[in-house]
Amino acid sequence: MLLDSYRIEIFNNKCMPGAMSVQCFAHLDQDVSEALPYLNAEWGGFEYIKDPPSVTFKIHGKLLTVHGRKIAVNANKNEDEVRKIIEWVKREINRVWENRAAITPRYEGMPRPQLIRILKCLPKTNCRQCGEPTCMVFATRVADGVKGSADCPPLTPKAKTELDAYMKPFAMDAEGTIPW
Ligand code: SF4
Repeated sequence: MLLDSYRIEIFNNKCMPGAMSVQCFAHLDQDVSEALPYLNAEWGGFEYIKDPPSVTFKIHGKLLTVHGRKIAVNANKNEDEVRKIIEWVKREINRVWENRAAITPRYEGMPRPQLIRILKCLPKTNCRQCGEPTCMVFATRVADGVKGSADCPPLTPKAKTELDAYMKPFAMDAEGTIPW
């Protein structure tokens, strides 16, 4: 087992004091740097940094970054969810590490969605019903995996289908199954 133990730190987002979600760090007692290229290969991380190594994933509207000695997850509902997610990441790190002989390590992030392609699907009225100041800002949130077609009320069914089809290859959880 590569990762055996960790300590969880939970805190509120200081930039958004009224936010209902919590952020968390898991400080790892073992260094998992060597497992990160295998985790990246298995999960399709959208950003991979070589030095110091870290890999970032978009999962169910969260950004999850695994560093050698730390895991960071944003937009958590509560502490119970945090603990489930970190335990799941721990299992995945150990799983890919144990199976690394059968996995080709990947040292790059997956291709990013193009903002222009996302924007093309949106109404471009800047109506703010999504909670963002403009459609362009909303498009960046979609590209980051934080928002999706369901968050734009004026989106037509045809445009929703187009946007979902375009974004599907970029989402690890495209089938909607929560993995933890
Ligand atoms: S709700 Fe849709 S149309 Fe309105 S600003 Fe947001 S992305 Fe644009």
